[in-house]
Amino acid sequence: MFKKVLVANRGEIAVRVIRACQELGIATVAVHSTADRDAMHVKIADQSVCIGPPSAKESYLSIANIVSAATITGAEAIHPGYGFLAENSSFAEICERVGIKFIGPTPAAIDTMGNKAAARARMREAGVPIVPGTPGPVTSEREAIEEARRIGYPVIVKASAGGGGKGMRVVHAEVDLITQLSTARAEAEAAFGNGEVYIEKYLVEPRHIEVQILADEHGNVVHLGERDCSVQTARHQKMLEEAPCAFLSEKTRRGLCDAAVRGAKAVGYHNAGTIEFLVAADGSFYFMEMNTRTQVEHPVTEMITGIDLIRQQIKIAAGEKLPWKQKEIRFQGHAIECRLTAEDPSRNFSPASGTIKYFDAPGGLGVRVDSHVRNDYTVPPFYDSLLVKLIAHAPTREEAIARMERALRETRLEGLATTREFHLKILKNEYFIRGELATDFLARRMGV
Ligand code: ADP
Repeated sequence: MFKKVLVANRGEIAVRVIRACQELGIATVAVHSTADRDAMHVKIADQSVCIGPPSAKESYLSIANIVSAATITGAEAIHPGYGFLAENSSFAEICERVGIKFIGPTPAAIDTMGNKAAARARMREAGVPIVPGTPGPVTSEREAIEEARRIGYPVIVKASAGGGGKGMRVVHAEVDLITQLSTARAEAEAAFGNGEVYIEKYLVEPRHIEVQILADEHGNVVHLGERDCSVQTARHQKMLEEAPCAFLSEKTRRGLCDAAVRGAKAVGYHNAGTIEFLVAADGSFYFMEMNTRTQVEHPVTEMITGIDLIRQQIKIAAGEKLPWKQKEIRFQGHAIECRLTAEDPSRNFSPASGTIKYFDAPGGLGVRVDSHVRNDYTVPPFYDSLLVKLIAHAPTREEAIARMERALRETRLEGLATTREFHLKILKNEYFIRGELATDFLARRMGV
C-alpha cells in the first residue's frame, strides 16, 4: 500500500479523499491555491503545498506545479478527485513517466472515453446500444444537414470533447441547424480547445441513469448498480441523485448493468468509472458517455452497497484485486443526495459568493454530510459552487425522502443564497414523489 498520497483537488472531494487515506493509514498531502490557504482540506491533511494563485489555470490545473509538489513531498500516488485534471490524460501520463501512480484508469482509456465520438464508436463495437447519430464527428455543413435528416429532428449537436453541459445544442428544425452547429463548435473550441462536434438523436423525456463500475488491474470488473440523475437544471447540471432507480424493471436494470460491464471490459478499463445512459419510457436505453473518474454523486452508491469507493480506488491503484465477485455485492435500501450549492434559484441558478455566517450540519440515523464549509467560511468566487452534499439513506424511497426533508430542515446555511429551500420544494413535488422523472423534470414540473 502507498505510504503517502497527494490529493490534486480542493473542496468537499479533497476532504473526502483525505478521509479515505486516513482510514487506510496513508499520509496525505494537500495542494492549494492562495485563495484556499485556510481551507478544510489543507487543515486536515498531514502536509500541504501552495501551488499558485487563485486562478485554477495557474494552480489546480497546473500539471507542473502539482507534479513538483508530489515529488518534493515524496508522494507515491496522486488522487485527482473530479473536475480539474481528473480526466486529463496528459496529466495521468506525466505522473506515470515520473513514477507517480495516478489513481484512475490508464491514459489510453481516459483518451478513448474522453472523446465522446470515439467512445460511441468503441461502445457500439462492444455491443452497447448508443443513441442513434453520426458514426463520427461531422466535418461539413452539408454532411450535418444530411445526417440530421437521416436521424430525424429533434437532434442534439455535441462536442466530442464536451463536459459540464458545454458545447451542446438542441436543434428542433433544419433552419436552425447551421447556426447551432457553429455555436456548439465555437463553445467547444473555447472551452476545450477542440471544436469537433457530432450529431445524435435528441431523445424526448429520457431518464439519465448511470452505472457505477469498479475494475481492478487483473481483469475483474463489477458493477455497483445504478443511479438516477434525472433531476437536472436547464444547463444539465445535476441537482439531486438517487440510488437505486426505483422505477426500472429488473430486465432493464440487468441490461444496463451488463452493458456497463461489457463496455468497461472492451476498453480494458481499470479503477472506478461511470457509464451514463439515457433510458426511454419504454425501457430502451442508450450509452451516452463514460466518466473516467469519481462522480460527485458517488455517495448514494456507497450508502446502498456499503462499499467505500474512494478506498477501493486507492486499493486498485496499489495493485490489489477486487475483494468480491459480482454476486457478493448486495444492495440495501434507498439513498438520495442533494447538492447544496451557492447558487440563487430565483436568478436562474447564478452563482452566489459571500461568507457563510452559520453552518449547522444535520445528523441522526442515515444522514451523511460531505462538505468542506464551516461557520465564517468565505466561498471563493473562483471555483465550483458546491457547498454541501447531503445524503439520506433509509430502507425505502419514501422513507429516504422523509429523512432528506428532515435533514434539509435541520440544516442551517446562512449568509448567502443557496439551493436548500429549492431542494425542499423538489422533495414536495408530486411528480418527484411519484417518481415521474425525466431530464426535463425541473423545467417542466418546477418551472426553472
Ligand atoms: P456533459 O458531458 O456535458 O455533461 P452529457 O453527454 O453527459 O453532457 O449530457 C448531459 C445531459 O444532457 C444528459 O444528462 C441529458 O439530460 C442531456 N442529453 C444529452 N444527450 C441527450 C440526447 N441525445 N437526448 C436527450 N437528452 C440528452
